[in-house]
Amino acid sequence: MRKLLDYSLDELKTLLEDTGEKPFRAKQVMQWLVQGKRFDEMTNLSLSLRRKLKGRYTEGYAEIVRVLASKDGTKKYLFAFEDGCMVESVFMQKDYGNTICVSTQVGCRMGCVFCASGANGFVRNLTAGEILAQVIAVNADNGEGRAITNIVLMGMGEPLDNYDNVVKFLRLVNARDGLNIGMRNISLSTCGLAGKIDRFAQEGLPVTLSISLHAASDGKRAQVMPVANRYSLREIISAANNYFLKSGRRIIIEYAVIDGFNDGTEDVELLRELLLGLNCHVNLIPLNDNSGVALKAPAKRRVYAFCDMLSKAGLSATVRKSMGSDIAGACGQLKQQYQSEK
Ligand code: SAH
Repeated sequence: MRKLLDYSLDELKTLLEDTGEKPFRAKQVMQWLVQGKRFDEMTNLSLSLRRKLKGRYTEGYAEIVRVLASKDGTKKYLFAFEDGCMVESVFMQKDYGNTICVSTQVGCRMGCVFCASGANGFVRNLTAGEILAQVIAVNADNGEGRAITNIVLMGMGEPLDNYDNVVKFLRLVNARDGLNIGMRNISLSTCGLAGKIDRFAQEGLPVTLSISLHAASDGKRAQVMPVANRYSLREIISAANNYFLKSGRRIIIEYAVIDGFNDGTEDVELLRELLLGLNCHVNLIPLNDNSGVALKAPAKRRVYAFCDMLSKAGLSATVRKSMGSDIAGACGQLKQQYQSEK
């Protein structure tokens, strides 16, 4: 059955008109859906409309399979959809607001060696409604006063490899009669699909773009990120610069610091050359150790020393505050854990 969360307000209007209903009902349906209510709870709709909807559609919600709560307030969710596919989301309370990190695909095609999400390959894209369902479920689970204000598309999957559904999701979650979350409160993280970044710039959505760089030369990058064989760093940075010029949003560069691999003085020099002309901020993330991968997380002081070197080289850089480190924090780890128990 089709899921109503996949429908925009205009699409809901058409759907309701086709079932002989007034178009203003669409707004009411949408307002219930974003609160996570079931058809039976949509009390301002007639009983016959509720029955009709129930007979033809599902709401499209995601089922919570498991929740892990950290001491710092971070909560990690494992969700299942009707077909049994599972993804993760993370709820974080940050100083600037309540943030959710959502997944955009089941599995991932990109094959970054340090990442658990792609370890078992790609299964399928999430629909726009399935991405939205994660936000709705986490909102409903956390209750009043802890509503989500910020979204990062940094969970499982490569958002720009699921382009149409992700762009539709951005419009759905931003809709006035939906959750109405501002585009400026949303970040999209990509491993650097330069062609898609150019296309995304054309959408005119003021979303913050994060680039997962993780290495400062193409050769080194290709050792950990196969996507480096498709797009060079020059192409990616040029696309990022174009995105900045179109959107006015400063670019975030994500850099997972890997012990003895990408944290040397030569890396600082290469990063300086690559990034100095770009309006960007570098976010350093100590590698999250994944069992089965030879790469190592550096000592904390090395990450801070590397950050210092970048600052001295004229780049804006900080070490990202790690959240929920007492629970399976990095993407894909909770699903891995759950599946290995089964
Ligand atoms: N596919 C997108 C978004 C999902 S991953 C992207 O590549 O940006 C979100 C971020 O977590 C990316 O920067 C990714 O490279 C990083 N990441 C994945 N596994 C990690 C690990 N084990 N340690 C640190 N960062 C990791």
